[in-house]
Amino acid sequence: MQIGGGAPVSVQSMSKCPTTDIEHVLEQTRAMALAGCDIVRVAVPDEAGAHAVKTIVKESPIPVVADIHFDYRLALDTIAAGVDAVRINPGNMKRDAHLRAVADAALAAGIPLRIGINSGSLERSLLKKYGGATADAMAESALSCARKFERWGFTNIKLSLKSHDVQETVAAYRAVAAACDYPLHLGITATGSGLEATLKSAIGIGSLLLDGIGDTIRVSLSSSPLDEVEVGVAILKLLGLRPHGVELVACPTCGRCKVDLVNYLATVREQLSGLDADITVAVMGCVVNGPGEARQADIGIAFSDEAGASLFRNGKHYASGPARRMVERLVSDVCRRGHKA
Ligand code: SF4
Repeated sequence: MQIGGGAPVSVQSMSKCPTTDIEHVLEQTRAMALAGCDIVRVAVPDEAGAHAVKTIVKESPIPVVADIHFDYRLALDTIAAGVDAVRINPGNMKRDAHLRAVADAALAAGIPLRIGINSGSLERSLLKKYGGATADAMAESALSCARKFERWGFTNIKLSLKSHDVQETVAAYRAVAAACDYPLHLGITATGSGLEATLKSAIGIGSLLLDGIGDTIRVSLSSSPLDEVEVGVAILKLLGLRPHGVELVACPTCGRCKVDLVNYLATVREQLSGLDADITVAVMGCVVNGPGEARQADIGIAFSDEAGASLFRNGKHYASGPARRMVERLVSDVCRRGHKA
């Protein structure tokens, strides 16, 4: 699949079971692909993992990236096993002879290498030079490794520069994007789980994508890879980088709202879930902003009071009636525009 050069931004995630547990990896990968994941990465910590990769590559529904640290021979093994790309970390694969052997093998196989910088495994010399794992230190690590590969005639490169710190990460990606044209794989690392972790990824990855920076993304969460894929896909949808399906626009409600909007919204969300239609649906609580938002959506409802609501489509009012009946009509009118997945 094409990465960079104007191709759609893709979502990547990692399988989280031992790579030697081939059936489990494939089961996770199939579920991730169904959820919208484009690329799966698998950790290859040893020879047994590299051996397992051969079967995984053959049976995976999506491209497979081998994640290699420390031992360049594992990179060579996985390239021989047919992986679609290899991620290496110059913070723990330092010898030029080893890096060059990997670059030569990737060149012969026609696959890209991702130079994946992590703030937690940066070269000591750079930590000393910059006084820590700063954005500049990460950018220098990535770019100096890329320049080595260039000197050896290898340019099929992607870069990533991940830290747990959103601002450092964003600054590092901006610095590298200004210095080279290589495709960038975006992510904030070691975020943990829950709301804060999700927000870190959404803010960091979202800021960069809004700048036009980034070709693949990975949301890192200390939970299921399906959670990572769900958040990654949502980020792309909300930024208009992937068809968004049904997008609900709903007011937060306030003291003017005379209906149980939260409940009506839950009904609409549930009944439209899985609908295959790129459409914006507004559900608004009162006449202050309701008719305006409903007119701007493809189709929308604006409540007036418990007794009434009005429906709007393509900027025009087309029906009014009791609130519950109008909600039912809204759902059936939207459903006519698509089909359930
Ligand atoms: Fe409040 Fe009406 Fe605005 Fe909803 S649309 S937040 S009910 S003023």
